[in-house]
Amino acid sequence: MKKGTDRAVDGASKGTFKRLAAYIRHYKTLYAGLGIITLVKIGLSLSIAWFLALVTNAAVYGSEQSWPTLLMIGGGILVGEVIVHYADQVLRTKASASIRKDLREDTLNHILRLPAKCTDKHHSGEFLSRMTSDNQAVGEAMGTTLFGLISNPLLALGAFIYLLTISWPMALLCFAMGPVMILIGGLTGKAIRRSAAGQQEAIGEATVYLQDVFGAPSVVKAYGMERRTFTAFLQRSREIFGWEMKSARIQGGSASASAFAGNLMFVGAIVAGAYLVHIGNITVGSMLAFIQLMNYLVMPFTVLPSMWAGMQQGLGAADRIFKVTDAPAETEELLEDNAAVESLQELRLENLSFSYDTEGGNETENEQTHEGKGLKDVTLTAKAGETVALVGESGGGKTTLFKLLLGMYPPQSGRMLLNGEDARQMDLGQQRSHFAWVPQEAHLFSGTIRENIADGKPEASGQEIERAAKMAEAHDFILEFPEGFDTKIGERGARLSGGQRQRIAIARALLRNAPVLLLDEATSALDNESERKVQQALEQLKKGRTTFVIAHRLSTIQGADRIIVMEKGRAAETGTHAELMTLRGRYFDLYQAQLRETQAEHLDTV
Ligand code: ADP
Ligand code: MG
Repeated sequence: MKKGTDRAVDGASKGTFKRLAAYIRHYKTLYAGLGIITLVKIGLSLSIAWFLALVTNAAVYGSEQSWPTLLMIGGGILVGEVIVHYADQVLRTKASASIRKDLREDTLNHILRLPAKCTDKHHSGEFLSRMTSDNQAVGEAMGTTLFGLISNPLLALGAFIYLLTISWPMALLCFAMGPVMILIGGLTGKAIRRSAAGQQEAIGEATVYLQDVFGAPSVVKAYGMERRTFTAFLQRSREIFGWEMKSARIQGGSASASAFAGNLMFVGAIVAGAYLVHIGNITVGSMLAFIQLMNYLVMPFTVLPSMWAGMQQGLGAADRIFKVTDAPAETEELLEDNAAVESLQELRLENLSFSYDTEGGNETENEQTHEGKGLKDVTLTAKAGETVALVGESGGGKTTLFKLLLGMYPPQSGRMLLNGEDARQMDLGQQRSHFAWVPQEAHLFSGTIRENIADGKPEASGQEIERAAKMAEAHDFILEFPEGFDTKIGERGARLSGGQRQRIAIARALLRNAPVLLLDEATSALDNESERKVQQALEQLKKGRTTFVIAHRLSTIQGADRIIVMEKGRAAETGTHAELMTLRGRYFDLYQAQLRETQAEHLDTV
């Protein structure tokens, strides 16, 4: 199992906020509106303290204003609060949801354009985490948290100024508590951030692990992996719990320290206020306003540390997202759904070489191998209508050759010419539109059979889809399902047999109708009868097209125009069946070995 590659981000890099600000700029009006609402909210809060003093003093000392006026003022404040709270809540959510939407869409847009060398290195669960939990953390930070971080200090400042007008020595004394609160926050902030990052990393790892396990439930059962799986998950689950408790203790400590400081101040304020009333320095109303203002002064300091931690968490998540979106993409834009090209006269590979090891820029894990895995110096020409068969040991580089043809990896040297045009001069979409590929594993998507076949040509008519299914020998079994072509096939085609999946993948490729057909052991999961039928159908299709077949069963490729024996990334032998047989080399050996096998089988059954 691959460990989560993203290390915990301790504190976000400086550029992160700037990059997020670029997202905020798309919503200038929204954020400006929220800024105004924040100010109005602070004003209303302060006016409550003012109103408190007004009413109390009216009761105790007699009023300058009439009671109806007082009631009107109170009602006005109430209505204002209702409206402002509603608008604030909705607009904050709109701000985070908007940022989340844009970021989510940008992230996916980039992930879809990442080259194979990058996606190969990452677990799909990591990408999922970027798009879900990290996305959420950033959204929260850019909405409620951001405005909390702005509005709370402003409220404290407003309360302080108001306090100054009531009694400046008291105000200064109260404000002196501010640094104490900030100190508490500062001491714990970093620890909170650390444990939040640790927690996120542990959750990420558990997600990746679970995704693997949920993806292959029957392997888990067949190998009796339930307990092992559960134990391994327990460990991760306990780790998450550990981090959560660590956060809780730190946050608890911070909260109780600030609560203590806050209460101390509060009690102090009551005592001091009472004394000031007693000596006739301030009115009773002022004292009540004073106590209310103390709340406004203290409260921000108690919530700021956790808000700051939330912001850091969001920035850390943004850092992880940006790490993915900073990885170089293979194309500028999302590739169009490229219609297959009409025809291809000639496909030519000249001294094509490629190595997985140098591609990633990493040193080889096995340092003994002085030559990397991949392809070495492959040269071949295939004309329209020709069939080229690739055979040989597993790991010989056959699939790798297909991946290079499809432009999944760029060759390190040599070139590929399509009708004499260098593939490097084309964009990737154009290059790929020459090929219809049946991968070694079918790689179907959840959805219906029809949808999966139509992936070969999205605009295909129902008739075209049925014809492709017929040619792939899939039509009969499809109609055996009660829902026929509209049968849902489950995750990755889990509700189909291996051979059925393969035939759907073949139908998908046939529907694409591209000039070059790439069949990677496309009939390996079929029984002899279906294989023979699919082969017959393919014979029809091969006319006018170029076909590359990777085959394990040599009997299926004897008629090929050229057979290439791949060995350690090289084309070790090239020729027709007859030529290679007279050569008495590797192909001859492979053929003899398979012949003996089938004869032995034959004898067994007789
Ligand atoms: P085959 O001839 O069986 O289709 P492949 O072309 O799939 O062989 O693989 C050729 C070699 O390249 C193998 O040794 C394999 O381990 C290695 N290889 C395949 N894919 C990758 C990859 N994504 N990263 C690194 N090495 C790979
Ligand atoms: Mg292979």
